Order: sequence, then structure tokens, then C-alpha cells
Amino acid sequence: MEGLVTKTTGSWYIVRTGSGEHYKCKLKGRFKIKGIKTTNPIAVGDRVDFDLPSGQDVGVITNIHERDNYIIRKATRLSKIFSIIAANIDQAFLVVTVALPRTSIGFIDRFLTIAEAYHIPSQLIFNKVDIYDDKLKKLHEKYESLYSGVGYSCHSVSALTGENIDKLHAVLKRKINLFSGHSGVGKSALINRLDPSLNLKTGELSGYHQKGKHTTTFTEMIELPSGGFIIDTPGIKEFGIIDFEPWEVSHRFPEMRVLLNDCRFNNCLHVHESQCAVKQALEDGKISPIRYQSYLNILNHVEEEGLQEWEME
Ligand code: GDP
Ligand code: ZN
Repeated sequence: MEGLVTKTTGSWYIVRTGSGEHYKCKLKGRFKIKGIKTTNPIAVGDRVDFDLPSGQDVGVITNIHERDNYIIRKATRLSKIFSIIAANIDQAFLVVTVALPRTSIGFIDRFLTIAEAYHIPSQLIFNKVDIYDDKLKKLHEKYESLYSGVGYSCHSVSALTGENIDKLHAVLKRKINLFSGHSGVGKSALINRLDPSLNLKTGELSGYHQKGKHTTTFTEMIELPSGGFIIDTPGIKEFGIIDFEPWEVSHRFPEMRVLLNDCRFNNCLHVHESQCAVKQALEDGKISPIRYQSYLNILNHVEEEGLQEWEME
């Protein structure tokens, strides 16, 4: 049989078949993944083959299908061993708010550049629109035009009132979706709105977000009634770890990426170089100074640290 891993605990897995049945499964023998050392051979989102020995109700996973993508993080703070957070992600959503708490542009851009590096298309969800007064509405518009202007879809919702939740449902349908964001932006409230039967606890110090904090390999995929899945990563603060070379940073900004062939030097860092298409576009008002500043901040960070590990907060 074949199925999708929807839950992992480290020692066993829940596998969902195409017809919607769930099987508890164990791993047969040891699996190794080429190239990286990982603590967990299988993650949510993996597609696997499994056998169900006759007369037993626990399946045995025999094969892992090749992954389209996967995101990893360090297993522990200082180790060189990684854990896979999730695999085969169709799209990533960053849940943000312009107030209570305000998500910074720098934070959003760090998230987006990592998603770009993982080749995972991403979108922004602005939550809590019910509390936006005129001033916050202006700020929201500014954020939205900045990001939709460079090609990221933006959604404006309220988990509290249910505004635009139907539109969000349509976008999530039949896809494997990853949700991320600072704690307090309303991820749990939003997931509850999308599937009221879940009844996740909300509130900044709720049990839900404490639960996963030290159990690093516990991840679950939430199945939506409309078809489609949400991977929530409670307690996981890093969105991922990724190697960035300085020259690669501009490749992670879509509005810069399209100009790179026009720079005079092919290793142009778009800072002090002459005949730089990115700086020209900045002067012409075609690239936002805010995004360019994020670019410089990330470039600085990469030049100082070499390897990049991006934390959510
Ligand atoms: P999480 O940490 O991202 O999972 O955030 P929670 O879902 O726990 O929500 C944090 C706080 O924001 C809670 O007090 C929620 O009731 C509140 N909240 C969540 N969504 C909304 C919303 O759309 N509007 C308003 N006004 N409050 C919200
Ligand atoms: Zn340049």
C-alpha cells in the first residue's frame, strides 16, 4: 500500500492512504538519506510504501518516495546533525499581523528568502484585520502593496470574525501547506477557524504551543475538511537552515533576480559595483528601498556568519 505520512512521533508514524484510511506504521530496518545526517528518517509529508502483515493492525514502512523538497533544522543547538521538519511542501504561509504583535518587514523578508532557497512558493496571511483602525489599515496597505508588488500573494483574514476564511480555504485545498509565524499572530485561532472540530487552544501561553517545545521530532499534519493539509510546527522556532553565499542573496529576492543578467559583473553584490542593474532599479524607484535595506541586512549577516541559520523569533 501507499500513503502520506501525517504524523510522526519518532518511533511510529500515521500513514494516510489515498482513500482516506489511517494506519499506524513502524519503520523496517534503517533508512539513510544521501548527503545529510538526520535524526529522523521520515517526516510528515513523506510519501511511503507500507505492508500490513495479515492479522496485524500495525503497518511496516518499506520504502520512502523521492522528495520534491524538505526543510531541515539542527537537531540541537550546536550539533551538526539535522532533523527534517517536513517534506513535499506545496506552499508555505507566513501568518503576520500589523499590530498585537506587529510583524517586522525584516522578519518577513528573512522568511521569504529562506522559502525561496528551499524552492517553496510562499504567501502572506494578514490576520486580525478586525482590529485594524485607519492608521493600521494604511500600514496594512503598505505591507500588502510591497509584497504583492514583488509577486507574493497576500490574504487578509480575521480568525475572530471569520472574514475571508472561505477564500483561504480555496487556496489551501488539496495542497500540503506549511504555516509559520511569530507566536501570538493567531495561527491556532486560524487553524481552528479552518476546522472548528480541532479546537486547538489559543492564547500566548496555551498548552498547544508549549507542547512541542522539547519533543523535537513530534510533528503533525492537520487534515482540512475541504481536502488539503496544514503542517503546523508547534515549538519549532527555526524555519530552516540553509547555506547562503553572499552572491546568492539577491537570487532570493524575485525583483532582483530578474535583473541579475544586466549587472556588469556576474558576481555583483549590488552594493558598490558600477553599472549595477539593481542599484539602477533602486534609483528609478522600481525596487523598494525597504526591500533593498532587507537585502543589505541579510547580505551583511551572510558575510559575517557564512552559514545561515534562520530563527523565527
Ligand atoms: P498563535 O500563537 O499564533 O497560535 O496565536 P493564537 O491563535 O494563540 O492567538 C493569539 C491571540 O490572538 C489570542 O488571544 C487570540 O484570541 C487572538 N487572535 C487570534 N486571531 C485573532 C483575530 O483575527 N482577531 C483578533 N482580534 N484576535 C485574534
Ligand atoms: Zn548588481
